[in-house]
Amino acid sequence: MPDIAIARFAHEGNSFSPIPTPIECFTGGEWQVGDGVTKYYRGTKTEIGGAIAWLERRPGWKPTYLRCAGAPSSGVLAPGVFDRIFGEITTGLSKRRWDAVFLSLHGSLNTAEYTHADLEIVRRVRAIIGRDTPLAVSFDLHANVSQAEADIPDIVVGYKCHPHTDMAETATKALDLLERRVKGEIKPVAVIVRADAIIPSLFARTTDGPMAEVKQIAADIEKKYGLLDLTPYQGYAYADSEAAGASAWATADGDRALALKGATELVEAMNKRRPLLFKKLPTAAEGIARALVAAQGPIAVIDSADHTGAGGIGDTPGLLAALIAAKPAKPTAFAFFHDPDLLAEAKAAGIGARLKVRLGGRLTPLFGPPVEAEVTVGHLSDGKFTNVGPVYTGLGADLKGCARLDLVGLPISVMITGICHDTTDPDFFRVGGIDLEKLAVLAVKAKNQFRASFGSTFREMIDIDAPGPAAYDFSQFPFKKAPKTLYPLTR
Ligand SMILES: [Zn+2]
Repeated sequence: MPDIAIARFAHEGNSFSPIPTPIECFTGGEWQVGDGVTKYYRGTKTEIGGAIAWLERRPGWKPTYLRCAGAPSSGVLAPGVFDRIFGEITTGLSKRRWDAVFLSLHGSLNTAEYTHADLEIVRRVRAIIGRDTPLAVSFDLHANVSQAEADIPDIVVGYKCHPHTDMAETATKALDLLERRVKGEIKPVAVIVRADAIIPSLFARTTDGPMAEVKQIAADIEKKYGLLDLTPYQGYAYADSEAAGASAWATADGDRALALKGATELVEAMNKRRPLLFKKLPTAAEGIARALVAAQGPIAVIDSADHTGAGGIGDTPGLLAALIAAKPAKPTAFAFFHDPDLLAEAKAAGIGARLKVRLGGRLTPLFGPPVEAEVTVGHLSDGKFTNVGPVYTGLGADLKGCARLDLVGLPISVMITGICHDTTDPDFFRVGGIDLEKLAVLAVKAKNQFRASFGSTFREMIDIDAPGPAAYDFSQFPFKKAPKTLYPLTR
């Protein structure tokens, strides 16, 4: 009966966010161990949900669920957070000998101590479990990877889909390969070939466009050479790491030359499409103007520069300032600002109360000053919901309260939340008291996952670029560790 340990430590660290990520971002969200893991993740379309389903189909395997911790993308982990979480995992792993280990990681973990922290994780895990215990890892497609990292685990499988609708499938594939490795059926070898660029994720969806082609090419090459896995990693543009940039990761059964051949062919296809991923975007004012002249709504104006799924802080005011300056005549809404103090003030004042407020620009003046406004409190809620959209389906969410503030004199509603949370799910807006169907324009901090959820809700989605920690044009950001040979740092 194979004894398998399962653990998760998933976070994407934005080097350009002014706010380090505290332990509370994990302990207040995905933070489970032991039986809590199966209760929390069973039936969810996540890696751990996929692993639970896989193991329940194999009564002969004995799973032990160690610490599972995950938090939305945000700034680099604050000092000590890495040791606190990883320490629990290594303590659990050290307790006995395992027949197999599965880790659910992100791949762009970036901490106060380590800029390529996933390498540190697999290195230390290997040292604990020994060379003979098969180790499988799953990564997000936005992992920044390196050959040093590829040489350590037996199996690494990355998401193939962006938006990430294949989290559970990724774990299933990793565990299928792990099982074959445990049985001695395969001898995986992995080769990484790096692309020539750090790529922004905005036009890198795999549902359409150049990266949809790359996804298909990867599947074709994998099949043609009989590779165990071939993942085109897009990398995470906002992690300043020695592993920064896009890459192809090929895993072959015992044949390193074949893995190199597959990865090289895939990277050529990625490099060829690179120009299609760098475009000129409208400013916030241009995007809002275009949306307001449209005959019919609702239209979404999307600011990915403060997208919480890419390390945004829920605080940059540029898009709201542009919406107010445009003086809309039709119903509009802005989502969102993370501001617990303002939320408490609105709660204390109650529905219908009139307040003078400062919106955004609370955490840093780097991306613009706060917007001063007079508002009435239009809606209050506890901010709790269960994801009903195609991403994180079935997983619970808690905004720690939320409020809708309605501007006096303009048809603009502003959503305020108690934590910084992505806007991916329809129920995010429901608990915010915002009826998307009734809007002419939604100005929203979001990116590609939003498109997966709301493609049928909006008549059009307009991407803009504004100042923020995940700005589309990152070429002028102060990269220190990333290779300067990578486009667009070469500009
Ligand atoms: Zn991702």
